[in-house]
Amino acid sequence: MNAQEQITALRNLLHKHNHSYYVLDTPTISDFDFDMKLKELQTLEAKHPEFDDPTSPSLRVGGGVTKNFETTKHNFRMYSLDNSYSKEDLQNWETRIKKQVDGPVSYTCELKYDGASISLTYQGGNLLRAVTRGDGHQGDNVTTNIKTIKSVPLQLKGDFPDHFEIRGEIVLPFDGFNKMNQARVAQGEEPFRNPRNTASGSLKLQDSALVAKRPLECLLYSLVGDNVPVATQMQGLEKAAAWGFKVPKIAKLVTSIDAVLDFVNYWDIHRSDLPYETDGVVIKVNNLQQQEELGYTAKAPRWAMAYKFKAQQVSTKLEEITYQVGRTGAITPVANLTPVALAGTTVKRASLHNADQIALLDIRVGDTVYVEKGGEIIPKIVGVNLALRSQDSSATIYTDKCPQCTTPLSRTPGDAKHYCPNERGCPPQIIGRIQHFISRKAMDIEGLGGETVALLVHAGVIQNFADLYDLSVEDVLPLERMAQKSAENLVTGVARSKQIPFHRVLFAIGIRYVGETVAKKLAKHFKSIDALMAANFQELVQVDEIGDSIAQSVIDFFALQTSADLFSPANTAGERNREMISRLKSHHLQLAVSSETLAGQTSVLNGNTFVVSGVFTKLSRTELKKSIEDNGGKVSSSISSKTTYVVAGDNMGPSKQAKAEALGVTIISEDQFLEMI
Ligand code: AMP
Ligand code: ZN
Repeated sequence: MNAQEQITALRNLLHKHNHSYYVLDTPTISDFDFDMKLKELQTLEAKHPEFDDPTSPSLRVGGGVTKNFETTKHNFRMYSLDNSYSKEDLQNWETRIKKQVDGPVSYTCELKYDGASISLTYQGGNLLRAVTRGDGHQGDNVTTNIKTIKSVPLQLKGDFPDHFEIRGEIVLPFDGFNKMNQARVAQGEEPFRNPRNTASGSLKLQDSALVAKRPLECLLYSLVGDNVPVATQMQGLEKAAAWGFKVPKIAKLVTSIDAVLDFVNYWDIHRSDLPYETDGVVIKVNNLQQQEELGYTAKAPRWAMAYKFKAQQVSTKLEEITYQVGRTGAITPVANLTPVALAGTTVKRASLHNADQIALLDIRVGDTVYVEKGGEIIPKIVGVNLALRSQDSSATIYTDKCPQCTTPLSRTPGDAKHYCPNERGCPPQIIGRIQHFISRKAMDIEGLGGETVALLVHAGVIQNFADLYDLSVEDVLPLERMAQKSAENLVTGVARSKQIPFHRVLFAIGIRYVGETVAKKLAKHFKSIDALMAANFQELVQVDEIGDSIAQSVIDFFALQTSADLFSPANTAGERNREMISRLKSHHLQLAVSSETLAGQTSVLNGNTFVVSGVFTKLSRTELKKSIEDNGGKVSSSISSKTTYVVAGDNMGPSKQAKAEALGVTIISEDQFLEMI
């Protein structure tokens, strides 16, 4: 075999194993052997770029980076679905159908998968393009990312048409979702809230190698086009499966609304056994000819109907209320429940929010409580079954001490939360602040995870984030499970973080209310930590979008000793914070905006507010907005009397146009804008 034949053989083999594993759920090769074959293919492909193929299974590992997803018009609009909630709704729907079409009507019942919709286009059996729903008329071209999803066939088999579109839903099954979250929590990162948002967020990641690591799946549900080679929806599903797509086998053909309801009622109960989230049933007129006669309303097909499941609710016993302490000292009460199955996961804990919420629902330990899970992954307690309350139960008394350091809690009037004021001695606050400092959006320290931070603090090796920069390999080696290599990685990772730009350092140090965006604003305005520390309240609130509470919080963070403290040996929080800053400075972290960032920034647009609307040719919307801000202008999302200019691209909405004209706001083109700067 020559190299080309070898490459082709390997590609075919890997396509086949992929299909068995991810579409049919019946592996035909060990993971190890698969990886070896894939490596072999990758090596050969690297040697022979002349045989590149946009459908090679090696693309599954990702690697392509997309900076801006190209907006792509749908050849066929991606509609919404009308919703129904009762038998009557469905019967009315059937009556409307029967008025419009002749002959008997049958329906397919499918599950409504809860993820992100996607439209795939195939040409000659190869995946050509994958586009998100967007606004239904146009979406984002996310092909590079979609190619990493292993249940999406890159090449089809059988009697597929030469050119067609197929639609489906990208979902993140519970199992993979939970594993991802466990790993994130172990890394000190925030867990993802729910599979649906995580799935749709994943499609927009710029780095496809990251998408490849997310256990996404693609479930297909309809062929689209003027000449699909089938007569019914059910045949379409069968064909799609035969060509190599993953099509859940749950779909059922029925001939009456009563049978539709049987399907709904069955899956309302059994959906918790499914590996992925569903939020209802989709009922479609089976005959495509009839579908065509029925057509579409402005928003949805007349031939399809969604039936939404009710939020799932179960009851279980509240065993104990415990309290968690966050990095800011905020206390969150947690309900510890007798484990109960709900919507595909086992629920053991639920947030109780705050003292007022507990009082409002009169929630007591020993109560049988109703737990509900809607869109959110964290379940909530929605009520108490008073009939089952025991005689000797007593009202919950909210804790008045920190569960971790026993310091009496404080509560500012108007704030729903209690706080532990022991900033310096309360372990979860100390650890939480450092975990925040190293997190991805802050200093992004590679080689150091949330658990290691906890170990370092407990072992007394570090007390604050400035201490990280004094760490040597010898300091961390004694830690449990710390090997030479990982110790070295940790120290290198810390050293590398000295390059992280100023605005992220500002976010990392954890000033209350100074999130990512506010940190950027402050960094841009003051340009250095020294200037920020010297700023007074007036100067702070003059910065765009910096309100009183942020300003006060910055002042407090750096506040120097007051006369009342003069005789106390302990420093004030402000002094300690200033000392930390000077330690970070001595380690050469970026505590001012770098000269590179300053280059390309002007103030020519100072005092002008812009609204950006439409599609642009030379710059992406994000680039356009950035260059407005870089040049001192302000970007706003809606037109008002305060707007100076509207930068209009193609397809600017007519209502925006009318509004701009009515208010006498100047409309400029992309080119005119570029001239201004
Ligand atoms: P909605 O966004 O609530 O109007 O519902 C429409 C969306 O449901 C479509 O964009 C699809 O992505 C999604 N959907 C999930 N499962 C199905 C299915 N089996 N058939 C059609 N649409 C589905
Ligand atoms: Zn405490």
